[in-house]
Amino acid sequence: MKTKLFRNIGYLLFILLALSSCVNEMDMVEDEQGLETLSSRTSPPFAGYEEWVKKLIDYDKSADSKSYLGKVENFLQSIYRFIPEMRDVVDDLINRGFKFRVAVRYNGAKESWFNPNPSEIGFSGEINLKIENMIHELLHFFAFYTVDEYRKQLYAAREEYEIRVLTDLFMRRDFSTFPYKYQGMEKEHKEYLRYLEWLDKLLKNEIQSMDQFSSDFIQFGLSRLWGIKDKEIQVTDLIGYRPRLLGIIWFYGKIE
Ligand SMILES: [Zn+2]
Repeated sequence: MKTKLFRNIGYLLFILLALSSCVNEMDMVEDEQGLETLSSRTSPPFAGYEEWVKKLIDYDKSADSKSYLGKVENFLQSIYRFIPEMRDVVDDLINRGFKFRVAVRYNGAKESWFNPNPSEIGFSGEINLKIENMIHELLHFFAFYTVDEYRKQLYAAREEYEIRVLTDLFMRRDFSTFPYKYQGMEKEHKEYLRYLEWLDKLLKNEIQSMDQFSSDFIQFGLSRLWGIKDKEIQVTDLIGYRPRLLGIIWFYGKIE
């Protein structure tokens, strides 16, 4: 009886050891290929992340929008839970001590905005309080504090199109059941389907070189941003573009 028990415990230990070595091996393969440098991208959200993400919100300065804070918290939690790359973005902003105040007020043509001073993420009315707008503005927030030329507010067109493409990638991959209007190309545009195919190629890691990526990015960006009436957006800025934000958040060294 005792030997059987020992034998069973032995089996169990063997299985546990075998499983844990598989996990280690997988980690090693990733390290060797240099695919992963930051941990929050691969590890699932840790216990307690629901509270952690709230550190981004400046509650003292969000009193005017109190009734919307629950929704903003929910968005932050879903973004953190389902978009691995955004976990890095959120962790980085929190670790550097940044916060934003939430503003919900009507603001003409803009659906949503990020203002660095005072640090504010705003939505033009409840109708624009949407998860894709939250992702988009969090990326502006991160870009401002991470990419030098974006902090200096040079190249608004590059920054804007990078953020549109990133938001589209995340929405297509992680929230594919949500009704969603793509930001990187209009549905009526003749390039629309080709743009969606390009997103799928990016999602499948089929784009092998930065040159190839950049030329598509510039072409789609010119098509999309051409008609935008915003004095900051100069489409010619896209010429000669090398990805900054996409390099950090999406490619992180995967392609040259
Ligand atoms: Zn924007």
